[in-house]
Amino acid sequence: MKQSLFSEHEWCIIEEGFDPKRHEIAESIFSIGNGHMGQRANFEETYTGETLAGNYIGGVFYPDKTRVGWWKNGYPDYFAKVLHAPIWIPLEITIDGETLDLAKTKVLSFTRTLNMQEGILMRTCTVKLKNGKELSIESTRFVSIVSSEIGALQYTITCNSEAEICIQSYICSNVKNKDSNYDETFWEPISHNTQDAYAVLLDQTKQTPFNVPTFTLATGMCNKVYTHTDICSGTIHAEKQNISEEFRCKIQAKEKIVIEKIAAQLSSRNYAVSELLKNTYTRLDEAVKKGFTALLQEHKAAWLEKWKLSDVQIEGDLAAQQGIRFNIFQLQQTYTGEDSRLNIGPKGFTGEKYGGATYWDTEAFCFPFYLATSPEHVAKNLLLYRYQQLPQAIANAEKLGFKQGAALYPMVTMTGDECHNEWEITFEEIHRNGAIAYAIYNYINYTDDKQYLIDYGLEVLIAISRFWAQRVHFSHIKKKYVMHGVTGPNEYENNINNNWYTNYFARWCLQYTLETISWIKRVAPEQYEQIKQTCAFDENIEVIRWTDITKNIYLPVDTQYGIILQQEGYLDKELKTTNELDPAERPINQHWSWDRILRSCFIKQADVVQGLYVFEEDFDDETIRRNFDFYEARCVHESSLSPCIHSVVASKIRNLDKAYELYLRTARLDLDDYNKEAHEGLHITSMSGSWLAIVQGFAGMRVKKGTVCFSPILPEQWISYSFYIQFKSALYKITVDAKNITISTESTTTEKVQIYNKEYLIKPKQVISVKHKTK
Ligand code: BGC
Repeated sequence: MKQSLFSEHEWCIIEEGFDPKRHEIAESIFSIGNGHMGQRANFEETYTGETLAGNYIGGVFYPDKTRVGWWKNGYPDYFAKVLHAPIWIPLEITIDGETLDLAKTKVLSFTRTLNMQEGILMRTCTVKLKNGKELSIESTRFVSIVSSEIGALQYTITCNSEAEICIQSYICSNVKNKDSNYDETFWEPISHNTQDAYAVLLDQTKQTPFNVPTFTLATGMCNKVYTHTDICSGTIHAEKQNISEEFRCKIQAKEKIVIEKIAAQLSSRNYAVSELLKNTYTRLDEAVKKGFTALLQEHKAAWLEKWKLSDVQIEGDLAAQQGIRFNIFQLQQTYTGEDSRLNIGPKGFTGEKYGGATYWDTEAFCFPFYLATSPEHVAKNLLLYRYQQLPQAIANAEKLGFKQGAALYPMVTMTGDECHNEWEITFEEIHRNGAIAYAIYNYINYTDDKQYLIDYGLEVLIAISRFWAQRVHFSHIKKKYVMHGVTGPNEYENNINNNWYTNYFARWCLQYTLETISWIKRVAPEQYEQIKQTCAFDENIEVIRWTDITKNIYLPVDTQYGIILQQEGYLDKELKTTNELDPAERPINQHWSWDRILRSCFIKQADVVQGLYVFEEDFDDETIRRNFDFYEARCVHESSLSPCIHSVVASKIRNLDKAYELYLRTARLDLDDYNKEAHEGLHITSMSGSWLAIVQGFAGMRVKKGTVCFSPILPEQWISYSFYIQFKSALYKITVDAKNITISTESTTTEKVQIYNKEYLIKPKQVISVKHKTK
């Protein structure tokens, strides 16, 4: 069992004692966000030790000129990077002339706490200064989940003897992305502004040669500094890339001095540049009038409401309880679904890696979580994000030689343009189109909002189907449609032919599009005609070709092993299992050359198993089991997205030990820093996998023909687990213990559920309990 890095607690992550070596990991783990903005848990006061400063505003990015060794036609010009934005938390504190800096001061005690129930980051510490004086600090910080442009902190200092204190509270735009391709800074100052007690910096991202707008950001602050007898007055200074407000005062022994800082960050994404300053003053004014305490109270109350829809309770396993709440908390603070131009970066607001951009992770892993734990518009906005980017997906496909409205959604994107520049991923990892189409199906299946197909969905499906129809070719040897030169979900294989997952998904997309066409033609003929026009859809030609492909696409299988073939030629490899790997050589991506990885049979992440997860209804349990056993034994799970999908499938085939082992690898991946990379940021998108492993895995939740179904098992390490799901207009609470599955709803009507394939009706206020099958 791996040792936890931080104390286990059901609602909090707690770091006891200050360890500079753990600081960057803690900065990631204790990150806070509100969907609009988020930040790493950097210290407010000066810190000269190792740190990764991070303050991010959703959708505010910089198109950093691509840097590659060997340019290939079709590569994107830039990689969009979420920006480390101007910061509002800094406080420079000097006591009797000595700067408070935990890297240089003796730290006597230290506790950092992330309260996930209320969305608050807290810290208490005591330090001994060089002059022998002892100082204690308490800080509380949050970014408001109610007013998403507002953040606030309260910082209290007490000294054991009389002291002269100088506090400089900053907003500063002299900030830099660590991952800048050419070591450039991305922000340029526009102006310094003050009005009453408010100070606002206006900054703009640098102009680039690319067809991407610049962003203007207003960062404003208002400080209040007081002791129990006095309110201190400050002096504002404006310098090149910062504004500071300076407070000087003398405190008595044990007297508290409190700094309350309320900040606002508004961007040109939401306001005309000419209106930014005015709106920032207004937002600050509203927040300051409410005051720190009231802002905090409403923020806490809103978090409690979020938990009512999405909490998972695990009885009997504190580490697992903390793990799942940590994952849910991070997902909820990364994406709130109020803005259809925003999405979920693999690192959310916790680090720079992956550029804060959108990957297939959103649809393939995160979508079911938001669908079941948030109001309907939240998941719908994720679909609209892709709908709005359809023109760019079509342009992206055109750039690669596709025609007539075929769309290839980017592997990595901010605004719809492809940002990734490794040929084997950018050009070949095309299965992402499948996940995007499947999310539409998932949404309709779950919500029954079929109108979505008419208003938006079909256009996307047609464009994706066109892509598949052009991407396959007919093999005269096989007498089948084949797909060459692809990369499947398993990125440890490139340029392969007939990746089963990709071919199966292409077929499914075409089938689903054809079914959708027939349905819309029947129920909304006029709108269908409009869609046909919009898409220049040639029904006669396209429907015939698509139907032919669905009937004749090549899906590789091996009869000798009785398994699906991950790709042609896979079984010609030297077949070994992961048990035969030298533990000292794992992870193989850190020890082996790339060509050795490519030649080996080892699989990075679920590939055939990912397909069996999505399309389980097409296969019997025995087939799933055979394939799972074969492929899992060769999977090194070197993507954080891998264990969770395997866990869900392991639960389905009742391989409980495997399901639990793989669940744990996902749930505490970052908390216990399994991959030694938590310092770079958290694996936000794979966090949804922990939820999938519980809800779809252990509880076996599925939605079939408009009914929510369960088929639960209970890991023997747990006494019970419970969770909520929002399904149609009802909120369900499901509890699984050693004996029963118990379900109640918050609904005014009778709801139908299925448990182990049998239907039950739940009346309002009724609780039903069904004996739980252990096998
Ligand atoms: C995985 C991809 C994933 C990306 C971002 C990679 O390591 O192989 O499937 O989209 O990380 O999470």
